[in-house]
Amino acid sequence: MAKEYKIRESIHGNFYYHISLDSNVLCGNTNTMTTRIPITAWGVVSHLHERYCKECDELFKKEQEDNG
Ligand SMILES: [Zn+2]
Repeated sequence: MAKEYKIRESIHGNFYYHISLDSNVLCGNTNTMTTRIPITAWGVVSHLHERYCKECDELFKKEQEDNG
């Protein structure tokens, strides 16, 4: 069964993003809200200067490798 990763944004609305799996944020941060951003956009930085949680990033990549 494919795991469903989703991008979540800090409740501060400052373009700081985390990743959740089954509604649990990977790094454990609880101050996040849902977004409609597809997981494929993770790591993309546009003119909005998005920032990505380093802890979520590492955990996400590790999972990808383990499953790969
Ligand atoms: Zn995080």
